[in-house]
Amino acid sequence: MIVAADPRKVRRTRRAWAGTVGLVPTMGALHEGHLSLVRRARAENDHVVASLFVNPAQFGPSEDFTRYPRPRERDLALFSGEGVDLVFAPEVDDLYPPGFATWVVPGPAGDHLEGARRPGHFRGVLTVVSKLFHAVEPDRAYFGQKDAQQAVLIRRMAADLDLAVEIAVCPIVREEDGLARSSRNAYLTPEERRAAPVLHRALGAAASAHAAGERDAAALRRIVRDVLASEPLAALDYVSVADPVSLAERASVEGRALLSLVVRFGATRLLDNVVLPAGEKL
Ligand code: AMP
Repeated sequence: MIVAADPRKVRRTRRAWAGTVGLVPTMGALHEGHLSLVRRARAENDHVVASLFVNPAQFGPSEDFTRYPRPRERDLALFSGEGVDLVFAPEVDDLYPPGFATWVVPGPAGDHLEGARRPGHFRGVLTVVSKLFHAVEPDRAYFGQKDAQQAVLIRRMAADLDLAVEIAVCPIVREEDGLARSSRNAYLTPEERRAAPVLHRALGAAASAHAAGERDAAALRRIVRDVLASEPLAALDYVSVADPVSLAERASVEGRALLSLVVRFGATRLLDNVVLPAGEKL
């Protein structure tokens, strides 16, 4: 497995390969969610590139950039075990050298949900993903539905900028108790960790109501709120029923919708979502 920090070295290595290339962008602190993307990339491509980069441009000034976990040797061993050919692990200066000044900004779908709460976050995401695409020139790139708005905005960007990359959105990998895998789960205290599956239960209750015929978005959001109210450690940040493409709020669910929520446990924000009807893809 090659490990490279310099985007020019990554491009040279990739251009020497014949066959298809799949890219899996990550910030590391790998878990089964990341590895599911790598396995799919491995199954569908001749070569797999994974990136390992905690992107400062997508963190707000009061967010967890400095304390974000960086278990580099463990991450490299996990990538190697999954048959990754090349890990692109740049330093901040490799992607943002002095004088860096050009950004990729999302359209209106970036104004909702996480975009409304984390100003500049998706500008940082789209910019770094563009740079990864330029260095790796992948045929396919793999993202998790866990970060649904990110996947929607990257798909939009690829279409709008005529990028020759297929965007694959992969299902959310969960712990046995239903908690969506996340590098930030490591921030939870044991009590918070025990309470955290309430997100999945709340989404499940609303998805069941939808399956039983409930189409009113306010009623679905209320079901989520009621389940969360049973867990004193959980503070709801927001719950949304949105159009799966524009991400604008819906009054009622006709066709597909993205039901998503963010819940705070102390200082830790946990995200989860389900596409309605349950089982539909983003
Ligand atoms: P991150 O390292 O958090 O930036 O995540 C890297 C990629 O892994 C993103 O496309 C995420 O959506 C995806 N991912 C994170 N958690 C999960 C999960 N539980 N299931 C599936 N994909 C995930």
